[in-house]
Amino acid sequence: MPKKVENVGCPYCGVCCDDLVVTVSDDGKQILEVENACAIGNQIFHHATGSERIRLPRLRQPDGTYKDISYEEAVDYAAKVLYNAKKPLIYGFGSTNCEGMAAAAKVAEKAGAVLDNCASICHGSSFLAIFDNGYPSCTLGETKNRADVIVYWGANPAHAHPRHMSRYSIFPRGFFTGKGHMSRKIIVIDPRHTDTAQVADIYLQVKQGHDYELFDAFRAVVRGHEIPDVVAGIKREQIVEVANILKKARFGTIFYGMGLCHSDGRNHNVDIAISLTRDLNDYTKWTIMAMRGHYNITGPGAVWSWQYGYPYCLDLTKKDIAHMNPGETSSIDLAMRDEVDAFINIGTDAGAHFPIDAVKHLRKHPWITIDPNINMASEISDLHIPVGIVGVEVPGIVYRMDNVPIQYRKVIDPPEGVISDEELFERIYRRLSELEADEAVKEHAKAAPEGVRAGE
Ligand code: SF4
Repeated sequence: MPKKVENVGCPYCGVCCDDLVVTVSDDGKQILEVENACAIGNQIFHHATGSERIRLPRLRQPDGTYKDISYEEAVDYAAKVLYNAKKPLIYGFGSTNCEGMAAAAKVAEKAGAVLDNCASICHGSSFLAIFDNGYPSCTLGETKNRADVIVYWGANPAHAHPRHMSRYSIFPRGFFTGKGHMSRKIIVIDPRHTDTAQVADIYLQVKQGHDYELFDAFRAVVRGHEIPDVVAGIKREQIVEVANILKKARFGTIFYGMGLCHSDGRNHNVDIAISLTRDLNDYTKWTIMAMRGHYNITGPGAVWSWQYGYPYCLDLTKKDIAHMNPGETSSIDLAMRDEVDAFINIGTDAGAHFPIDAVKHLRKHPWITIDPNINMASEISDLHIPVGIVGVEVPGIVYRMDNVPIQYRKVIDPPEGVISDEELFERIYRRLSELEADEAVKEHAKAAPEGVRAGE
């Protein structure tokens, strides 16, 4: 009799839907049906039991083919790569659990590595702005229950976070928003008329790369100052109209995405978005939230801030003290300056998503990919170590985009013999400790004088 597993979390985007119902076959090995997930989430579960899954670590051979090796051999290889490197980089973590992140941090600390996560190429600019200007945010539940004005600025949840609008921001009927989308005014600001813009009450087509000026204009109008006839391609009357809606909101949330973080201005765009939010709080209640991408990319920020005081770009090469200086200690910058001499790609695909020049530099050195699936990073790796899929085969804590931790469940067993990220990093840590101990014995032997002392 197939079994239905309820309250399952989706390991794809930062919405972290935790209301999925997954039907599993009698023998507990096949996923038959996934209810409530969007098309992307659905695919993650069905893909898990696909025939293309890798079941053993694969080591590249001189002729370019891969040879299956044991986990023990893979752990030994990874530990030796880290041990021999002067400045290894361990990067990724958007798609694993917090337990795996904490275990990886132990390894990075012992190896004297740089530890970084996908925020580095995503919402890292948000962190910079938040360090400068604070984060007047809320939880998604507050938005659902209270928000009567929603702004999506440089974000396209219809494609990137498909259930965000239906679970939290537009359609749900909340405690004080009982009429669902009838209770809310939706404003979308984006250079493209996206599918998200289709559901907006007001759409502002900002000129690409001119968001900062538009924020500036909103701030000026909210404070009662004059602005030019047209700012960033938007007419003054429209800016004034929207500014008045923002000021009269009962509770508002600005959701923003890569349109701010990846365009001219970057952290300054986010900084001024936070300033606008703060200004609006002189009149009413406003909050702002980064549309964090992967289901647990908020996780490393939480785990490592707790462990080291910094959310990303952690330089642990000095071992007894952590540094963070994006631009200096961020993955792409390190790669472009060819400053790292070993690379571990974990829970991400740097092969696909890093600029090609950064990939070429990293590829000159040992490259290890830790991932359940074949992807571009795994295909250019020296070693590919498969792991269980968090949320499907491995349980664990993940942090939603609003920093709310959620316990994800395990739905089926991983393929026989496949271990979790956490176990893999624990085993690498133990092997690294052995290598260090062996070296200490050798050093001790080298330092000891030859011969036998009298009386021995
Ligand atoms: S919206 Fe995101 S978390 Fe929810 S089911 Fe879709 S991919 Fe998964």
